[in-house]
Amino acid sequence: MHRIGIGTDIHRLVAGRPLIIGGVRIESELGADGHSDADVLLHAATDAVLGALALGDIGAHFPNDDDRWRNAESSQFLRHAVDLASQQGYAIENLDSVIDLERPKLRPHIEAMRNNLAEALNVATDRVSIKAKTGESVDAVGEQRAVRAQVIVLLSRRGV
Ligand code: MG
Repeated sequence: MHRIGIGTDIHRLVAGRPLIIGGVRIESELGADGHSDADVLLHAATDAVLGALALGDIGAHFPNDDDRWRNAESSQFLRHAVDLASQQGYAIENLDSVIDLERPKLRPHIEAMRNNLAEALNVATDRVSIKAKTGESVDAVGEQRAVRAQVIVLLSRRGV
């Protein structure tokens, strides 16, 4: 038995906030605005896993008006979703993702992000794919006003 899930997220880029993507803090003049640590990739990944389980979205599980999640490390959101999956007998088969950010270049950080995601997902790193794109100077990403992530995930349940 397999289940597939999709997740997307976008955060505004502002001065005075850290830029944390895939659990990696990236040197940048602009950071992601948000209630938690505003990790766009981990939020989209959490929504993808929840989506595969048809268990709603990250906002339903972790409301952004709840002070418990202020500046929270977003890996806990993803781990919670993975726990819900394993309670139903599901494991992560693989995850593919795209991050849209104009600058800085993300390539030097991709391996660290993959390792972080793999750890949260309880899988080997070779099951986690992260691709980085720019906005080619157009739309909110290209104008450096936002960072966006898209994630798709496949879950499988053994013996079914
Ligand atoms: Mg978010």
